[in-house]
Amino acid sequence: MRVLVTNDDGILAPGLPILAAKLKQVAEVYVIAPESQQSAVSHSITLHKPLRMTEVNLGPDITAFTCSGTPVDCVVLSTRGDLPDFDFVVSGINAGANLGEAVFYSGTVGAACEGALHDVPGIAISVCAERDVHFEVAADLAPKLVTQLAAHPLPPCTVLNVNLPNVPADKIAGIEITRLGRRKYTEVVNRRDDPGGRPYYWIAGTPTDSDSELGTDINAIQRNCISVTPVHFDLRSDILWEGISGLHDRGAYRIEG
Ligand code: MN
Repeated sequence: MRVLVTNDDGILAPGLPILAAKLKQVAEVYVIAPESQQSAVSHSITLHKPLRMTEVNLGPDITAFTCSGTPVDCVVLSTRGDLPDFDFVVSGINAGANLGEAVFYSGTVGAACEGALHDVPGIAISVCAERDVHFEVAADLAPKLVTQLAAHPLPPCTVLNVNLPNVPADKIAGIEITRLGRRKYTEVVNRRDDPGGRPYYWIAGTPTDSDSELGTDINAIQRNCISVTPVHFDLRSDILWEGISGLHDRGAYRIEG
């Protein structure tokens, strides 16, 4: 088994070597990670400038590179031709929650999705804290997840978004398969003045959980459970909206003649 590890917090992310070392117990591990912090870049790729890869030392038996681009660039560059094929992309361990609609912004989830777009199963792993992070529980879980998924493969176009509460192993209350809850952010745009007196803006909201019902990822974390959310690329809603179906029925866009 061969695993590509990346991390949107960059090559110096503390969760990265811990994850790579644990996955080495069950797989051949390659690391390609951005040179710098790339959180919240979602699924962006670099099209208008060249990308560089530099081999770095992340310890014995781990082939590791930095990449001058985004987390998704890292996954794309893993297909550059002289690297082997991968069985999994594991993205993390991110320092910070990726719950609810954070999956749309997350570089951690973006990289896992890029794996799945290349038919390589993707797993995004995040711990719900940015400081004093308990990476060890997530690191222990990672080889179990890839072993389980190797035996029971995910369906196509599906990634696992895994979040862990920031507690030591003996405080973990369980593991739950969840759906995405809703996290809204308040005071998202902060205005300050620079030293020259000109305004600048900093996007940094405070999360408020608007859907943390039982069954959501947010609820699982609130109860110190590990949350595993299968995320599928088919974003189409099955809910019929009368306005849209009505347009179709009336033939509003039929081209005459
Ligand atoms: Mn991050």
